[in-house]
Amino acid sequence: MIEPAMKNFFLFLSQNKALNHAAKKWGLKFGANRFVAGETIQDAIRKVRELNQQGLVCTLDHLGEFVFSPEEATECADYCIRTLDAIHEAGVESNLSIKMTQLGLDIDQNLCMSNMRRILDAARKYGNFVRIDMEDYAHCQITLDILAELRKEYVNVGTVIQAYLYRSEKDLDTLKGIPLRLVKGAYKEPQEVAYPEKKDVDENYKKLIAKHLLNGNYTAVASHDDQIIEFTKEFVREHNIPRSQFEFQMLYGIRTQSQVDIAKQGYKMRVYVPYGNDWYGYFMRRLAERPANVAFVLKGMVSK
Ligand SMILES: Cc1cc2nc3c(=O)[nH]c(=O)nc-3n(C[C@H](O)[C@H](O)[C@H](O)COP(=O)(O)OP(=O)(O)OC[C@H]3O[C@@H](n4cnc5c(N)ncnc54)[C@H](O)[C@@H]3O)c2cc1C
Repeated sequence: MIEPAMKNFFLFLSQNKALNHAAKKWGLKFGANRFVAGETIQDAIRKVRELNQQGLVCTLDHLGEFVFSPEEATECADYCIRTLDAIHEAGVESNLSIKMTQLGLDIDQNLCMSNMRRILDAARKYGNFVRIDMEDYAHCQITLDILAELRKEYVNVGTVIQAYLYRSEKDLDTLKGIPLRLVKGAYKEPQEVAYPEKKDVDENYKKLIAKHLLNGNYTAVASHDDQIIEFTKEFVREHNIPRSQFEFQMLYGIRTQSQVDIAKQGYKMRVYVPYGNDWYGYFMRRLAERPANVAFVLKGMVSK
């Protein structure tokens, strides 16, 4: 387990606006290309095609942090639409993941809604699907409220539920019929709202997977944890749940051999592929997750 001090250090760095700003000009540095597919849409599409050739499907994420103006939010939405265009034109198998704070959620909810509608219209035109990533607890309820509004108009949208939150099991009751990605949860949350112990998060995760699947809903199990993956395989076997009702997901660059192995076993495996020049914050959060990644980066820096 990563030292809490080191984890906090990288989470702190991930929020440094000056470094974030500077990094946009550096190009992908310090081994970030292990976790980020490239800076341009073309780079990303090339990587998606390679992954498709290995039997993996993808979800593309155009990276972006610290969106403060309506113009920046609109630009982010334009980027999302260009990504959907590029997926369609290249004929690759990928959907899109987005973060609503990039689309103006903290600036003006109407702006965020109109950006979401523009993106969902483009996705619908191409028969594609959009996943709203779940951000920190402060954005959880508003994300679910906006999703409920959007679902009245669009079927091609879903979101993410985090197993570390106490509220998640109840949330599943209001999310029947909605395709969900289930994750452990990536943010630093207080114990008033989230299980502090990993074993409780893991137990709740299994409960959520079982519940959403038994409710007959399409479920994406997004985890690198073998214990969770094995639980899912066993559970679907026992309950005769068809493989068309669920998929596994992992992040680009993490457990890449396992991704291919699971796909070869006949399961759908979707890789979350981030790209763009705003890579710094995402990269720091991946380093915060795991010391082995830090060692990998340091090795890369000294061998240059
Ligand atoms: C496709 C996808 C989408 C996600 N979307 C969201 C989201 O919208 N909102 C959100 O809050 N969180 C999201 N997450 C992150 C998630 O919440 C977890 O923080 C993250 O996946 C780590 O948890 P884990 O289930 O992989 O298990 P862990 O218990 O963290 O790890 C289990 C094992 O996986 C391996 N592993 C885990 N992380 C790494 C790593 N960085 N490098 C190398 N090996 C590693 C290690 O072997 C580790 O022992 C997403 C994760 C994935 C895979």
